[in-house]
Amino acid sequence: MALGSCRECGQQISTEALSCPHCGVPSPTESEEWIKLERQLDAIAPGGGRLALRIKQDIEAGRGQVHTIKGIRDQDRSLGLRAAKRMYEAVEQHLFDSEP
Ligand SMILES: [Zn+2]
Repeated sequence: MALGSCRECGQQISTEALSCPHCGVPSPTESEEWIKLERQLDAIAPGGGRLALRIKQDIEAGRGQVHTIKGIRDQDRSLGLRAAKRMYEAVEQHLFDSEP
């Protein structure tokens, strides 16, 4: 289990923690850019930010756009195809921008 520091309170916590056990901030070890991406996805569809990590993992695993979009729509049945596609593209763009 990898450790990282919370962006809010600075405590050492698991990078897999969904929220900080000390201060409660969501996605505590993610960068500001990632948080911005989650907000962007939330703006596309309510609760969209929750899907960001899943989309990122699918992209990194090379699962492809069709598979990923089907996966997130299975997870959130109210999500339209266009919204899912926009989310996928936003995450893909984020990963592309954060290449070293
Ligand atoms: Zn914290």
